[in-house]
Amino acid sequence: MSNSTPFPPVSGEFSTEQKEYLQGFLAGAVASGQLPFVGIDAQGQLTGDAAAGGVNLGAPPVEDSVFGTPIDDLCKPEVWKHELNGLDVWEKMVEHAEADRFPDDADCFRFKFFGLFHVAPAQDSFMLRLRIPAGIVTSTQLRGLADLADDLGNGRLDITTRANFQIREFKPKDIINVLTRVQDLGLTSKGSGADNIRNITATPTAGFDRDEILDVRPYARAVHHFILNNRDLYGLPRKFNIAFDGGGTISAAADTNDIGFFAVRVGEGVADIEPGVYFRVCLGGITGHKDFARDTGLLIKPSEAVPLAAAMIRVFAESGDRTNRKKARLKYVLDSWGFDKFIAAAQEKLAFDLVRLPREKCAPRHQVVKHGHVGVYRQSEQGLNYIGPVVPVGQLSTRQVRRVADLAENFGRGEIRLTVWQNFLLPYVPNAFTSSVEHSLERIGLTTKPSTTAGCVIACTGNQGCKYAAADTKAHANAVAKHLRGKKESDFPLNIHLTGCAHSCAQHYCGDIGGIATKLKDGREGYHIVLGGGMDNEQGIAREIFKGVGHDELPALVDRIVDTYQEKHDTGETFVA
Ligand code: SF4
Repeated sequence: MSNSTPFPPVSGEFSTEQKEYLQGFLAGAVASGQLPFVGIDAQGQLTGDAAAGGVNLGAPPVEDSVFGTPIDDLCKPEVWKHELNGLDVWEKMVEHAEADRFPDDADCFRFKFFGLFHVAPAQDSFMLRLRIPAGIVTSTQLRGLADLADDLGNGRLDITTRANFQIREFKPKDIINVLTRVQDLGLTSKGSGADNIRNITATPTAGFDRDEILDVRPYARAVHHFILNNRDLYGLPRKFNIAFDGGGTISAAADTNDIGFFAVRVGEGVADIEPGVYFRVCLGGITGHKDFARDTGLLIKPSEAVPLAAAMIRVFAESGDRTNRKKARLKYVLDSWGFDKFIAAAQEKLAFDLVRLPREKCAPRHQVVKHGHVGVYRQSEQGLNYIGPVVPVGQLSTRQVRRVADLAENFGRGEIRLTVWQNFLLPYVPNAFTSSVEHSLERIGLTTKPSTTAGCVIACTGNQGCKYAAADTKAHANAVAKHLRGKKESDFPLNIHLTGCAHSCAQHYCGDIGGIATKLKDGREGYHIVLGGGMDNEQGIAREIFKGVGHDELPALVDRIVDTYQEKHDTGETFVA
């Protein structure tokens, strides 16, 4: 480690004060019989005497399995996690920064525990994914991230489908600088990649929604901090998603999560249940594998959400498949065990009794407004509004980010909300200023005018920044949106989702029109097109209708699909299969 590091090297020596403390502690432990013998040698090193029945504090216990899976059977990422916990790679990252060096495969995987992704060969650089519970960001944080993206990245922030930001194109030498600057802003990226719990999402209108049953921000925040501060909730068999739905206007796509907490109201006259607001608990969403989270029957008090989430994550950590990555998500534990066994295992870790109640005993959810994230809408507080612009495929230049921060400060309360629809809301705008804000957003290229066809075109990162992608999804989605905007409207708001590979980050199976990228025989980038998917009250898995459509044919095909729908649909008939 060179002297240029901003961090002092960790010394192997104990200070005099530390030695005295340790001597006292160890003497107490020996006297109480907890340790048969141990000492500190003249160099200040801990010693143990095996011949005298002592202990060796320096050697960690050797484990021959991970939650019952023998080491020899673990898949490669599990071996990497077993050899070195991804939470313990800070010094390695410092070394890589000093050497301006990219990590090998094992460390590449481990660095994702800090949200750092080496995205080669798509780009020979790092991407940082943050974690922003409930997608709530302040104007100060926006400016700080814009500065960071300008100073060390590519001058852009990307909004993800988990209401989160990614910043791209960092050099290895800058990774520590990037991580510390993010932390200085009161943000973190810890656990946003690899086999960890991803950003906790929530209804983006929480706290000001006219229809909400419960303001879910405190619960999203509480789970976020609980995870951050419990090491055993990292290093799961695979990634894990949690969302909170407060019953408000805009969907948080909670039914696509491993755990979806849905606020519900229970009225008078339900046996053994006090009237009030609860969460229903849905489990096992993974739409890339064509499954939504299903209602378990569990009805919990809001205050029970954190311990229940922790218990369920721990059961998953103990029981998930650590040999086969394709079968390592929660869905497969549930498929094999069923809800009853899984809930019973979670119950064993809880100090309160879990209660189940049929869904129909709860009040139905208020309908989501499908494109309610675009346009101007009244808040619950008299005279205030939230404004949602379309952010083309979620990409914001730093110039736009700074302007949005100005608008949030000048016309709102210095806060924006990211949505899972790859855009943001600017809340708390008084009636008198909505037009000014809309006008200002238009001037930076962010329209607030809803469009039933082009109002929600979602794309994953694509091959400009992700090695798994078979196509430039963002460019192709932009081409589709541009083609549709101003050309026509449909009777029913459409969601169009383009995804680059089977990981389905853009959830193509949930789009009215979805596409999964493929390479065509003639070398062009193209898509298999699925139709009829949806979430929430339109829940459905889209079916493949067209195979191998060239990206250059996509805008015209989408056009024809919309035309056909307009001509043929019955009154009120949607795309959902
Ligand atoms: Fe990358 Fe595939 Fe996710 Fe797209 S869906 S961002 S290609 S992993």
